Amino acid sequence: MVISVAAALKIISPVDGRPHVPEVLPPSVPAPEFHVYYPEVSPEPPVAVAVPAPAVPIEVPAEDLSPPGPEWTSVEIGRGENLSLIFERLGLAPATLDQILSSGEEASRLQRVYPGQNLLFQIVNGRLEAIRYEPSLTELLEIVRVDDGYKSSFATRELDSRTRRAEAEITSSLFVAGQEAGLSDNLIMQLAAIFGWDIDFALDIREGDRFRVLYEERFKDGAKVNEGPILAAEFRNQGRTLRAVRYSAPDGSVGYYSDTGAAMRKEFLRTPLKFTRVSSNFNLSRKHPVLNRIRAHRGVDYAAPAGTAVKATGNGIVAFIGTKGGYGKTVALRHGGIYGTLYAHLSKFAAGLDRGDRVTQGTVIGYVGSTGLATGPHLHYEFQVNGVHRDPLTVPLPRADGIPAGELPRFQSETAPLLAELDESIPGAHRVLAMGGESGTPTER
Ligand SMILES: [Zn+2]
Repeated sequence: MVISVAAALKIISPVDGRPHVPEVLPPSVPAPEFHVYYPEVSPEPPVAVAVPAPAVPIEVPAEDLSPPGPEWTSVEIGRGENLSLIFERLGLAPATLDQILSSGEEASRLQRVYPGQNLLFQIVNGRLEAIRYEPSLTELLEIVRVDDGYKSSFATRELDSRTRRAEAEITSSLFVAGQEAGLSDNLIMQLAAIFGWDIDFALDIREGDRFRVLYEERFKDGAKVNEGPILAAEFRNQGRTLRAVRYSAPDGSVGYYSDTGAAMRKEFLRTPLKFTRVSSNFNLSRKHPVLNRIRAHRGVDYAAPAGTAVKATGNGIVAFIGTKGGYGKTVALRHGGIYGTLYAHLSKFAAGLDRGDRVTQGTVIGYVGSTGLATGPHLHYEFQVNGVHRDPLTVPLPRADGIPAGELPRFQSETAPLLAELDESIPGAHRVLAMGGESGTPTER
């Protein structure tokens, strides 16, 4: 994924279009969608507690198959090539291939080679002495000549894993600072996702904000092959310090927590108000009650007396507040970079509420009304995940359980070393530094 956070975190202003009721547009013209802002961070499974932190494969040059000597020949499998063709290319007899394939069960793996993979051949005086093949980063198949033919063996091994720390001060954007600290796009995205519930990376970042990150890198034969999840991170934003640490619970779930065990993710209320009934469900082929036309209803309508308080369903930032065509008076919130909620047909807004304001779950943001195209007082409520409208009544909402009290000792003993490593001073602060977690020797990059 080559998305710059700088670009991804750009605010998408709500377009000046009609929402779900395009009363002035001809039927053939699709109504512009109402966009709640979303940084394009990797989608998260909505019910999992974990912020995803996939290992990112990094291209490994063919040389990394570690040619052990000059007599080894590296052969890249071409499109449409098979072992017979390769043996022919190398001037090896078909009978040799038969011997190889009958050298043991493991040798059958040679029949499942893919274009782009490499095989190493050791050929001495025209005779095949050995083959090395790595089906994956952690597997090695070796075939060596013995007195009466060939013998195959298969081994797996672990990649070398090291922790690395990076630290940076933000002078222009998170993305630029992250890059200068040597972080990949993926790691910057992870960082933004971990703190995205507490920090709005488009609006909250100030010059002088700082972050430090501890993450895992994996190596094979000294070459970096992928990077793992962020293990711990700290973000200093406008004078407040937020810390997060990765923790695997006994049930196998993995998530990011504050150092006191609170979930970094926040949860949602299912409904934003006390309502009398659901007057219209999420329905992508609904006939609109006013327009009498098929028009997708991308939210749910809650009938309630005019003036009923409407509450933010989750901690978030006001992305839009104002009047929006058929939506009438509308508030749109964004939450943690992934989720967006929208509240329409309001009679009025909460006093003093402005775009960019931070609201906590349960904050009153406005009051039920019937502004815009509405047949009577109701709240039209939308819920979006990564920009896609989902049924607010059924969408799986993110869980955000903190560490249970009984598990806190385990949590603390597992995460304390990570936080301590994060806190080790990095010589030459806010320079770009790398530190091998095992060697403990800082090296400037
Ligand atoms: Zn509606």
